[in-house]
Amino acid sequence: FAHIPKVPEVPLYAQLQVAYGKDPSPLKLNLGFGVYRTEDGKPFLLNVVRRVERLLVNDMSNFKEYLPITGIAEFNRWSARLILGADSPAIKENRVTTVQCLSGSGSLRIGAEFLAKHYPQHHTVYMSQPTYGNHPNLFSAAGLAIKTYRYYDPGTCGLDFQGMLEDLQSAPSGAIVLLQACAHNPTGVDPTIPQWEQIRQLMRSKGLLPFFDSAYQGFVSGNLDEDAKSIRLFVADGGECLIAQSYSKIMGLYGERVGALSIVCKTAEVASHVESQLKLVIRPMYSNPPIHGAAIAAAILKDRDLYNEWSIEVKAMNDRLISMRQRLFNALCDKGTPGDWSHITKHVGMFTFSGLNPEQVAFMTKEYHIYMPSDGRINMAGLGPKTVPHLVDAIHAAVTT
Ligand code: PMP
Repeated sequence: FAHIPKVPEVPLYAQLQVAYGKDPSPLKLNLGFGVYRTEDGKPFLLNVVRRVERLLVNDMSNFKEYLPITGIAEFNRWSARLILGADSPAIKENRVTTVQCLSGSGSLRIGAEFLAKHYPQHHTVYMSQPTYGNHPNLFSAAGLAIKTYRYYDPGTCGLDFQGMLEDLQSAPSGAIVLLQACAHNPTGVDPTIPQWEQIRQLMRSKGLLPFFDSAYQGFVSGNLDEDAKSIRLFVADGGECLIAQSYSKIMGLYGERVGALSIVCKTAEVASHVESQLKLVIRPMYSNPPIHGAAIAAAILKDRDLYNEWSIEVKAMNDRLISMRQRLFNALCDKGTPGDWSHITKHVGMFTFSGLNPEQVAFMTKEYHIYMPSDGRINMAGLGPKTVPHLVDAIHAAVTT
């Protein structure tokens, strides 16, 4: 292997995390890594997950043999219900096939491999500019070409809706379009429901194939059904789509790698053919998925009490994100920091695109030990009431020096 050149580390994971870890300052603050944290910046284990794990340990039927290629059937059924709704006609008509995958990333990757193999119409995926850093990798690794559509308007710190529609309008018919269902990463900007409806009409009229990525269901409104509305609009028209679901953030199951890929088809027969082919995609990649995390998720999804307890915890996580937005905004106003910071409270989900430029971010890291990606994305869950003043001091200094 002597010929192998060394490549640079993956920026967000390696550079930021390593630099943060090495920083001895007691003031250091990690707003970069995309995980939910407590007010004190500690990892958060949901109570409902803790409770279900105890139940699973006591369950003598606990089983460690291989799962089927497509994972736990019950997990798949309930995942489809979670995203499409309990009374979804597509589910009732058996037009949806769902397979357990390795979290959101694995679901996107299996979907991408499936499309590369079985969707000859167009091997190009359009994704928002900007998008989650791993999106291009997940699709190009499957051999699909990547293009972008306009999404974020730095002028308004909001959605460039006209730009988005124009770019989708000029995409070739049949192209795949990756859409984040809610709580867009990294911008914190989502289309409204009437805008989603316009996007749907345009995409369906042009025969563009929607591939939804749902990693933050419940993190916008605090309500799981509400945050699935964008997807449900598309599914209600009877057309095809793909959906990748992640349980990393919404159940705090990051390292358990729990996710599902659903493919909504036009008939039950097509869905069964698709499922048979998905098995052939998965089998040579990892044969079958792991049990533990999906068993936890399934136990929560199928039990009314546990589900209610979980929904309350999701709402509490969401409330904390919203209150951090408000605190940060108020503190910047109180300090008289130059600029319009109202986008902080308008943005939704876990992230806000602060508008800080790479030089300002570098200054804040050097002088204030605050770590975030150079695009200025702030993970609101990395903040707590005690750390807001420090961040405000840093932002103030960055924009006034
Ligand atoms: N999609 C989006 C939009 C994300 O933000 C993330 C994680 N940050 C993922 C997918 C993948 O996460 P995971 O593989 O942990 O589910």
